This record gives sequence, structure tokens and C-alpha cells, in this order.
Amino acid sequence: MKTRNRTFIAAAIAVLAGTIGIATPAHADETEAFAEVSSVTVNADGTVTKRIFTPAPDVTPTELARMLTESGVPNVVVHTEGDISAQAAACSLGTARTWPTSTTCFWRWAYKGQPRPILHFLDRTSAAWPVGRAATEWNTVSGIDSIRRTPSAGCLSSAHCIDMVSANYGNTGWVGETWVRWNAAETYATSAAIYLNDYHANTETEKWTAACHEMGHALGLDHNTSTGSCMYGKLVAGMSKYPNANDKALLERYY
Ligand SMILES: [Zn+2]
Repeated sequence: MKTRNRTFIAAAIAVLAGTIGIATPAHADETEAFAEVSSVTVNADGTVTKRIFTPAPDVTPTELARMLTESGVPNVVVHTEGDISAQAAACSLGTARTWPTSTTCFWRWAYKGQPRPILHFLDRTSAAWPVGRAATEWNTVSGIDSIRRTPSAGCLSSAHCIDMVSANYGNTGWVGETWVRWNAAETYATSAAIYLNDYHANTETEKWTAACHEMGHALGLDHNTSTGSCMYGKLVAGMSKYPNANDKALLERYY
């Protein structure tokens, strides 16, 4: 009898867990537009790698998280706008948000002895991706340089070299991915790279917007709550392919 009760209780817990799982909303709602789909890994040397993924136009953050997990990406989480707002008002300016770590509102790129940090976006994307035009807009921020470099020119040692690659990665659910590696204290970035998926970006506007978006992540920004910025949480029709004034001013606060 005791055994039967235990079996019943175990079965009841399993049913309850299943019910909770089914009850998790899989549909899009307005908070999802600001969501951040990411994966954090603590490396053997104590440094931290964070990957952030931009959902394809027809994929919700929840769906993307499921697809990433099924494809073997570890520790996938979806942070909502509520989580990000809770980080502190200091992490935001108007509609713009910094990309916080577990220890700071804003992680920085080192100056490497320069008057301001220099980011070289090493453009190994196909000609269809307007990386140069996206970089030019970010480079209007005076405190940090954003420069497109061709593969033949390479990166200078005075700059941080951020690899940008495009390919048809297939139906991954993401149009762009940026990963950044932080020091163990999660206060400085030591390297970063950007991947752009031809499969999910059909028009030049979508490609431009996605490139602008991922570069903004590499610069240290999180999602902007306005569709007037390329840092809006996902690609939607009519959104801007440029950073907005808040994105730029927020970077100027830290550099
Ligand atoms: Zn994003």
C-alpha cells in the first residue's frame, strides 16, 4: 500500500510538472518584443562567454529558446524587459539599455593605450550585408570607434578585432548572434564575434537592421524598447535600421 501511494504521488507530481510545462505561454505577447535570448557559459579559466541571439522575424523569443536548446546550445534563458528594468535605472537611458553582466551595468572595451577604444569589425560577410554602412552610423559615437575592416586589410593591434561572418546557417530561428567573452570579474570584454544568417534575412533592410543590431550588442548595448532603434528586441516591419539618440548617448556615458 505504501509503495502504491508513493507511486501515485510520483505520478501526480509528474502530471503536475507536465501541466506547468504546458501552461508556460508559448505565444507572443508584447513583453516578448523586448526579450533577450541568451546563453552564458563560465569557461575553464574563469572567463565568461555570453551568446545573445536575435529571433528571426517570424519566430518568438520563446520558440527561439526552444530551438537553441534542441540544437544543443547550453543554458539558454529568455530575459524579459521586466528583468532588464530591474537591473537599475542606471543601466538605461530613455528607451536604450546597456547589456549588463552579473556584476555591472556596463562592461567596457579596454583602451589599449588609445584615446578611445577602437573596434575593428572584420567584415567577412557577403556583399549583401551592409556592414560598412552600419559601422559608419555607430562610429558617430565619439567615445568609441567602430570601423569596418576588410579581410585583406585585417585588424590593427591597437584595435579589438571583431569577426563578422555571414552564411546560410539554415532554419536556426535566429537572424543574428553576437558572443562576447568577459574577464572573470565580468567588467571588461576581451573578445567578440558576430554571425549573420542569410536564411532569415531576405531584404537589404533586414540585413542592415540585423547588422546594426548585432554591432550594438558588441558595443555593449542591450535592447531598446523603441522600434525607432535597430536595438529593438526583434526584427519587425517598419523598425529603424539605425541606432537612436538614446543608444548613442548611453555609450557616450561610459566612454
Ligand atoms: Zn539582440
